[in-house]
Amino acid sequence: MVRLSGTEPADALMPVEEAGARAAALVAPVAGTRSLPLSQADGRVLAEEIRAGLPLPPFANSAVDGYALRFDDLATGAATRLPVLGRTAAGEAPGTLAAPGVLRIFTGAAMPLGADTVVMQEDVGDDGDAVVLPPGLRRGDNLRPAGEDVAPGDSLFAPGHRLRPQDLGLLAALGRDHVVVRRRPRVALFSTGDELTEPGAPLPPAGIYDANRAMLRALLARSGAETVDLGILRDDRDRVAAQLAEAAADCDLVITSGGVSVGEEDHVRSALASLDFWRVAIKPGKPVAVGRVGGTPFLGLPGNPVAVFVTFAFVARPMLARLAGTGCPPLTRQQVRLGFAHRGRAGRREFLRASLEPASDGLPVARKHPGEGAGSLVSLVQSDGLVELAPDRAGAEQGSIQPFLPYAALLG
Ligand code: AMP
Ligand code: MG
Repeated sequence: MVRLSGTEPADALMPVEEAGARAAALVAPVAGTRSLPLSQADGRVLAEEIRAGLPLPPFANSAVDGYALRFDDLATGAATRLPVLGRTAAGEAPGTLAAPGVLRIFTGAAMPLGADTVVMQEDVGDDGDAVVLPPGLRRGDNLRPAGEDVAPGDSLFAPGHRLRPQDLGLLAALGRDHVVVRRRPRVALFSTGDELTEPGAPLPPAGIYDANRAMLRALLARSGAETVDLGILRDDRDRVAAQLAEAAADCDLVITSGGVSVGEEDHVRSALASLDFWRVAIKPGKPVAVGRVGGTPFLGLPGNPVAVFVTFAFVARPMLARLAGTGCPPLTRQQVRLGFAHRGRAGRREFLRASLEPASDGLPVARKHPGEGAGSLVSLVQSDGLVELAPDRAGAEQGSIQPFLPYAALLG
């Protein structure tokens, strides 16, 4: 029996933001950490605070190829001629500048002791064993002091931070070769439907290839989850219940697509131990079931592939972020001008697949893809993102300014 865990009827249409927040509230961050080499840490969620163990740069060095000098050796307001006393390159122990003169220096070389300024090679006149330095130099020019960027002890990353390529660069610069990260959420993934066939196999009459699982595996990987791919569930009430229960025993979240609507072959909801909600005010994608199977959080996505893609962004992403122990990055919208008029019905937040054309006079113009069906995968492929229409609107005027979600923002 399905037990409703909320106070309101589970079949009320739930606003999109609330659906994401309620779904996330159903899960807890996974327990368990491990130390990983940096080469395996991209996209992983830190389980430790990272403090700098050394200054960056570690020693004062030259930012350019040129000549190191003592500012006090320069004439005021006039060019200065100084002898070249030596040379120092990156990786060499710091030289010393103890008398009036310059040392040839290269980018990244340690500042010679005594020197406090570097003049760029391009600004210097070469005069045999001496150089002619222009007026107007400032003390400290082209010098990168030790600790200019990072001081020892600076707190650089908090637990819960998802590591990006630039973070790995900074960790390496600090000499770290391992970091302690959280375990990845284990997500069991099923498709449902008697019409589905595995790609690569012959297609029977009235069959279609399972498209959702290929897309969801990739979306899950980008969300930092480890997917346990459990294949296709047949439209059989008892088998659906048994296989969902088995999967639930061994993972942090169970995700299915299809079979959550009101058809007679939609058996997923009846297999759940509890149902939080199952109708979201979103188009495409109204049937999205969130609850538990056994004690494990459950997310039942719609069957139509475009609905899967859209509801993943608003319901699955917040769940997966919380499970992973990190924050859900806010979706960044841009403003576009509609190059079309749209008639719809109020009550659901509507997403229209559209491509952008640059306009010489400001905002890009959105062109709607002709394939509007929730099953039209090609429309997702041949568009740049989603125009978002608020649920209180029954449509939108041509020329009106609307928010737009580029796919890159949804996939980040
Ligand atoms: P359902 O909610 O199960 O009635 O599915 C709605 C629509 O989505 C039907 O046309 C299904 O054939 C289609 N569909 C369901 N699952 C998949 C899938 N894994 N790949 C492609 N289409 C699917
Ligand atoms: Mg089905």
